Amino acid sequence: MFNKLLIANRGEIACRVITTARRLGIDTVAVYSDADAAAKHVAMADEAVHIGPPAANESYLLGERIIAAARQTGAKAIHPGYGFLSEQPDFVAAVEAAGLVFVGPSADAIRAMGLKDAAKTLMEQAGVPVVPGYHGASQDPGELANAAAEIGYPVLIKARAGGGGKGMRLVNRPEEFSAALAGAQREAASSFGDPACLVEKYIQQPRHIEIQVFGDSHGNIVHLFERDCSLQRRHQKVIEEAPAPGMPAAVRAAMGRAAVEAARAIGYVGAGTVEFIADGAGALREDGFWFMEMNTRLQVEHPVSEAITGLDFVELQLRVAAGEALPFVQDDLSIDGHAFEARVYAEDVARDFLPATGRLDYLAFPEGTEFERGAVRIDSGVRQGDEISPWYDPMIAKLIVHGPDRGAALNLLDAALSRCHVAGSVTNLAFLGRLARNLDFASGAVDTGLIGRDVANLAAEEPPSAVVTALAALGALGLLARREGIDPWDLLAGWRHWTDARQYVQLEHEGERLSLEVTGLHDGSFAVITPEGELQLAVAADGDNRYRVTTDGVRRHAEVVTTPGRVAVFLSGQAATFQLPDALAESAADQGAGDAVFAPMPGVVRVMNVETGATVSRGDVLLVLEAMKMEHSLAAPRDGVVAEVHVAPGDQVTEGGLLVALESADS
Ligand code: ADP
Repeated sequence: MFNKLLIANRGEIACRVITTARRLGIDTVAVYSDADAAAKHVAMADEAVHIGPPAANESYLLGERIIAAARQTGAKAIHPGYGFLSEQPDFVAAVEAAGLVFVGPSADAIRAMGLKDAAKTLMEQAGVPVVPGYHGASQDPGELANAAAEIGYPVLIKARAGGGGKGMRLVNRPEEFSAALAGAQREAASSFGDPACLVEKYIQQPRHIEIQVFGDSHGNIVHLFERDCSLQRRHQKVIEEAPAPGMPAAVRAAMGRAAVEAARAIGYVGAGTVEFIADGAGALREDGFWFMEMNTRLQVEHPVSEAITGLDFVELQLRVAAGEALPFVQDDLSIDGHAFEARVYAEDVARDFLPATGRLDYLAFPEGTEFERGAVRIDSGVRQGDEISPWYDPMIAKLIVHGPDRGAALNLLDAALSRCHVAGSVTNLAFLGRLARNLDFASGAVDTGLIGRDVANLAAEEPPSAVVTALAALGALGLLARREGIDPWDLLAGWRHWTDARQYVQLEHEGERLSLEVTGLHDGSFAVITPEGELQLAVAADGDNRYRVTTDGVRRHAEVVTTPGRVAVFLSGQAATFQLPDALAESAADQGAGDAVFAPMPGVVRVMNVETGATVSRGDVLLVLEAMKMEHSLAAPRDGVVAEVHVAPGDQVTEGGLLVALESADS
């Protein structure tokens, strides 16, 4: 085994790899960009090397810099994590040419699976079922349209170099085919530099089921059962689980065999995932699943498989990379219980899941293990006080739960999500919580359309309860802080001068103004008049930001976090952040009263639709900003005439930067 490992990644996966390396007595080297100088993965590693500015293509994607960092620190091997350089065959070749070990498959294996069309041909030859379709060389629209007719509508057009759901088009009718193909080719060319597309039968009500495989350099290949990743939003995984609900033993064995064949066909070494699409319209069948693609790396969702197999996949990766044989054969492996993983993101669910940024003023996870197997496991690359920067994936944490059966694990998931408390950025936690309580999901009736069919309900904001609002009022008035740290067991707020002292406070929640009246009572409790009515509550401090709140004879734990301009309240699974009026006044000023468009986050201008002097209507898209790996259309705030254009396509903009100004409304 090598004695020093460089991790060519950041965030939770870098921390995850460091944890296992440390347990194995391997020294670790982190790499970091300017944006990550104070990041958790840097703090955790034994050594760290600065590799460039925040933009990934100037740091985490620079193979030579990373190899130089390994040389400089004497690291013998490089673990790529997922994303970034993990599936770049040229990087693998460069690592090996430098005399270092790449913890992953060979460059050839990555190349073989890199393009969807070639991979499908290869899999067909290996006897692995592939989705019926056309994956030949021709890109002639007429020929592809004929192929689509032969396959039978509906069909799915996919970019052969695609990933992340980009360049995919569902086509329901022959007359829509040519326009859809042109669109897919354009998107493929701009996203992947390769316009080539393939055509597939569109599977109605599909389930995404993937098989974890592992190979070693001695020719052994096993599978470690399946994960069901059908809970997706726009082809992005949201909650994953292992094993798949309703998986018959015979289908599991057939999928496992097919995955092992797929890996064997390319001489696979290391951890990999063979993704299948399965017909979810009825029970899973041995003839009802088809190869989609192989991911030649560790997956984000690997912890659910670790949970049910009791194995540490990073340890296995390192052992295999060091030349050791897998320590088991297929028959040694079995499934223990059921596991779920939920991906907690800084994103604004109400604004179409727009990625969010911000400083994590408060971050409390449920009790659990970190990066290691447990009933509740938290894999997170951020700590309280850290910044979710616009430069990378806005993931806050992966919450992984493991129980004796699916129902028990789902209960744990719901509880763990409700105990995950974040202030300082919006998150998808409430959305994940509603998903965990969704009845179709609970019954195991999952397919990739589940979230989309019900997204309005799943994404709906619930108004805060009266108790939550009352606590926010107390927090905003500084009535909770007053006795903190003096005697945590005492009731808060003095009873002496408080009698009938009435205070008023205004809060805003989701754009709605709330006026509240608070009265301190003789016994130290408070009467609060909220829009929902009056209530009386007693509050006792219980540690930093923690309180015991009693209303109507029921005592509950709450967390109240006040930061300049904001107060966040967490109470029994409810979470709400309120803004204080001063902050509102400031942000209203920032918005220039609707006369201008500012950058909502740092990014690059991709498209500029207007020039100075143009007449625009409210809602017209003025420009398209690419940020956080997605495109965001920025629209005119009102009807008017463009007075100033401050950016051009290709320009980098900072958050809050003025992009376009309209002529003032009264000029
Ligand atoms: P990408 O590489 O862009 O992520 P994939 O080929 O992995 O694309 O497909 C992403 C998702 O799209 C799948 O998880 C599934 O939900 C859906 N999908 C892919 N192929 C089909 C198909 N033939 N029929 C129906 N849905 C599909």
